[in-house]
This record gives sequence, C-alpha cells and structure tokens, in this order.
Amino acid sequence: MDNPVSSRCPVCGIQIDTESLTSRIEITCDSFGGKNYCFCSENCRHHFLEDPRIAYFSMEIGVSNSMPTYSGGLGVLAGDIVKSSADLRLQMVAITLVSRKGYFRQKITKEGDQLEQPDEWDPAKTLTRMPNVATVTIEGRTVKVQAWLFEYQSITGGMVPILFLDTDMKENDPQDRRITDSLYGGDKTYRLKQEIVLGIGGARLLKNLPFKIRKYHMNEGHSSLLTLELLKENGMDAEKVRNLCVFTTHSPVEAAFDQFSYDLVQRMLGNEYLRGDIERYAGTENLNMAFLSLNLSKYINGVSLAHVEYSRKLFPGRYIRAVTNGVHSFTWTNLFFRELFDKYIPGWTNEPILLAKASEIPNREVWDAHTKAKTNLLTFVEKANGVQLDPEALTIGFARRFTGYKRSTLIFSDLHRLQDINRKEKIQFIFGGKAHPNDTDGKGLIRQIHEYAKILKDQISIVYLENYDMDIAAKLTSGVDVWLNTPLPPMEASGTSGMKAAHNGVVNFSVLDGWWMEGCIEGVTGWAIGPHPREMLMENERREVELRDLYNKLEYLIIPTFYNQKDAWITLMKNSIAKIAYYFQTQWVVRRYITEAYLI
Ligand SMILES: *Cc1c(COP(=O)(O)O)cnc(C)c1O
Repeated sequence: MDNPVSSRCPVCGIQIDTESLTSRIEITCDSFGGKNYCFCSENCRHHFLEDPRIAYFSMEIGVSNSMPTYSGGLGVLAGDIVKSSADLRLQMVAITLVSRKGYFRQKITKEGDQLEQPDEWDPAKTLTRMPNVATVTIEGRTVKVQAWLFEYQSITGGMVPILFLDTDMKENDPQDRRITDSLYGGDKTYRLKQEIVLGIGGARLLKNLPFKIRKYHMNEGHSSLLTLELLKENGMDAEKVRNLCVFTTHSPVEAAFDQFSYDLVQRMLGNEYLRGDIERYAGTENLNMAFLSLNLSKYINGVSLAHVEYSRKLFPGRYIRAVTNGVHSFTWTNLFFRELFDKYIPGWTNEPILLAKASEIPNREVWDAHTKAKTNLLTFVEKANGVQLDPEALTIGFARRFTGYKRSTLIFSDLHRLQDINRKEKIQFIFGGKAHPNDTDGKGLIRQIHEYAKILKDQISIVYLENYDMDIAAKLTSGVDVWLNTPLPPMEASGTSGMKAAHNGVVNFSVLDGWWMEGCIEGVTGWAIGPHPREMLMENERREVELRDLYNKLEYLIIPTFYNQKDAWITLMKNSIAKIAYYFQTQWVVRRYITEAYLI
C-alpha cells in the first residue's frame, strides 16, 4: 500500500503512534477501500470492518464547498448528517454520486438573466479511487460503477467514509461515462440512469466491501431502486427488506417525487426485476420512487411536524414520524461566535445542546461577534458586486433555491410601503440563490429582483450575490441582521437556512411553515409572517394578512427594536441561539435516528 497510514484510530479517534509499536496498546492494521487503517485495538478493528453499519444514501451530499456535489438544502442536510454521525462515532457509510460537473455554476447578467456553466471538479485530486467495482445493466449495456472515497474526519476522532459513485471508466460506453456528470441535469432518462447507478450500483458496491449493513437509509426517494436489489437478495421477502430500510421523505406534494413510466423503466432496466413485483410497491401507473421507498421501509419520517401532517394525507395508513431537520452546529457557526461559545459554553461543538446556555453570554460580546461577522459579509459583498453597503443599516438576507413556492419577491409586493419604511430608518437587502436550469419561473424571479433593485436603487440597496453555495450561505446566514423567509405553506417541508442564521444570532422573520412552526416564539425567537396555517382563509385573504405582517412588523417591531433598543435586540439574538440553535441541529437528528430507526 502506498497510501499513508492513518495516525488516528478511525473508530475511537485515539492517536496511534505507528512508529513505536512498543506502545502498551495493541495495534492492528487492516485495509478498506484501498487504504490501510491502524486501530488502537482488535475491538476497534472489528467494530470498523465487521460490525454492521448504517448505509446512508443520498443523490447529493454537500460536505465541503470544494466538492460541488450538492444543489441545495437536501444535499447540505445530508452532509450535516454525515458530519454529526462522525461526531457521534456512529458506524456509517454514505453513498452518493460524484457529479463531476457539479450542479452548475451560476453567472448572472446585468439584466438578471441566469447563465449556467458546468462546475467541474476532479475527484482524483483529493479523493482515493477504491479498487472495488460494481456493475449494473442499463439499456442492455453493462455499466461499471467505481467509487471515490472521501473520509469525513470529525474532531472527536470519528470518521465516516463517503463513497462518490462514478461511471466515468474507459470500459464503459461513452454515453454511460457521462451518467454521473450532472446533478439533476438532463431529461427523465438521464435521471433514471443516475438513480439506477445510485440505488442498484450503490447497493452492489457495498456488497463488495468488507462490511455488513445494518440499515439502508434513503434520504429522499432517489435511491429507492436499492429496495429492488434487496428484495432479490432476500428471496422477495418484503418484510425482511422493510426491516432493513429507513426512508426520509422531503416534500409535501406528490409532484415533487420522481416518477418514471414503466415503458422507460423496461427500456432501461430490462427484465432484471419483474414488472409485477415493482408495481406492487411502486404504483401501477408509473414507478413512483417515493412509493417504492415508503412501501419497503419500516421506519419512515418527514422533516418537520407540519410536513408530517401533510405527508400523512399523502400516504394514508402509513405511520410517519416527524424528525425535524437540523444543521451541523460547528460548520454553520462562524468564527467569531465559535470563539464566543468556546469561551462561555465549553464543549458545545461535541454537545450542541449546551447552546441552551447562550443567554449567559454578555450582550456586548454577542454584539461584537455579530459586528465582525457583518463586516466580513459586507467586505465580501463589496468585492463580489462592487457595492458598499452601510454597516449600520438593518440588513435583511434572503437566499435559497429560486422557485415559485419560495416567493422570493413577496417583500416587493408594495414598493411604496417599502420606500416609506425605508425613509424612517434605513434598510438594505442581500439576495442569493440558483434556479434549476429548467425552472423558468425561478429564473423569472431572479430577473424580477434585479428589476426591483433598479427601481429602488436611489433609496434601498439591493444586492444579488451570484453562485449561491455553502461558503456564501455561511457568510450570509451569519452576517445579516434578519433572515427572511416567505414560502407558500405548506410547501416548505422544513427549511434549514434559518437554523444556520439562529446559530449566529441572526433573527428569523418568516412565514409559519416547515421548521418555523416549531422554532417561532413570537417576539422571543423572532417573528412570524401571516396566519397560522390551520386558520381557514381564502388565498387572497391569507396573502393580505401576510403582507400586513410583513410590513407592519418590519416597521413597528423589527426596525424600532434594532435601532432603538439594542439590548432587547441582543436578547432576541441570544434567544435564537439558546432556544433555536440548541435544538435544531443534526446531532439531535442523528441521535433520534439511532434510537428510533437504526437500533431497532
Ligand atoms: C442551507 C442551504 C440551503 C437550504 O436553504 P433553505 O432556506 O432551507 O431552503 C440551500 N442552499 C445552500 C447552499 C445551503 O447552504
């Protein structure tokens, strides 16, 4: 082996001195995926290679900004779950696609038109190519699937391997080499090919590795073809497969689930799996990927209490639990707040629930940390867009995927009112976000924001940051004063960017939907926009209440508190940390998965 020997035990994180084998601890070494590992004890070796693991499947995983293998919330959540699993030293292996051309790199013209460019990266530069190869059959051709190994190393010493599946091998037909290029790119056929590689290729590759799998966790339905492979392996015993599978559903509407016609499925998969068997679990009309996961998983969860209410309507008769999403606390806390937490809440990185003690941090230090984060963001904005924003002005951030239901232009519904508010006390906006290349509505919204920016340019500064990614998300969710979210209920299944904001004392101002239904304590952790979803209102009435709240709360609550009652504002900031961040974090999510889904 020419790969270096890891100097920490990948199970318990104990430092291993590989030079002096005279140490008291018995060191054993073994290899996995083309790498050599040394363990502090036989017990840890056994745990790493032979104890059953959790296989976490996700079409996208965003673990670091240098690997553009994610598009948005779903992938970032998957990355955060991997990180917290490593923190907890949970034996997990994550499986995703290598997406060599990423999602896309966003350019925006002066007019606000989005241009998409490939976001290429080379896994060979930083990852290890594993010697193990799996094969799948697509359109009658044999397609080889290899994997690149990335080891997510936690500061606790825990490590989770992430396997990035890749069909770009010279043995493959040229068209098949492109299957793992573009995340969510191409047409339905391309998507199905990707999902064959992820679900079936991923399951088969795991079989070639030295470890056993305790549970297969499908993050969204994209990987659900793996259940067909498991059925085959288990003599078509659905009960056995259900006991092996965990499914997390992420949307409250059926239209969001991938569906494929059986003609297409037949063309791509051939007769490897019998149509009757697939139809039994995936629907008779189309192959519905969510139904397939749902019907073959014992443990099913939605991603917030509100989302689960809708999911139960969508999947009647199924017991669906609510595990509200979170974020990886360390990743999403900026440098200045990390220092502050280290000082006042030692141990918070390994035990984020301790953030509940944030109320004890002195106000001045909270404000100083925030000011530094804000300066950091405004410096970045100036470099990126050449716009000098006012460091003293109330700064409102809005960034996420651009698509109809997120209603990114709602705040501009009444420009006169907005101008009136701004005349009293200054406000400024920073926007960011990509629209899917085929989402013409989403692209239209980006253009509209640019138009509003032009109309208001002499009064209100509105900046749009290009190519929203994890780095920009981290800067934005820590550097603005208020984090705005205006989705159309019940479409926001959870949302996570507001949780990132809360970790940095950025105050949420959001429509009551998804996680905010649980996070919002009016006037204490932030403010709600619009009525409670249970209030029966006509669409136009609901919108009226939303707009009234949006402008009235901004004018009469948010602005006066921010400008004239600094201590009250800082209390809101500290409440965001102590009453939101302490709970909405992925360590809690993973702990719940362990006790409710993985260990049963
Ligand atoms: C956190 C994050 C998201 C999710 O944002 P929501 O407001 O929850 O939709 C999307 N994109 C990136 C890059 C993120 O970091």
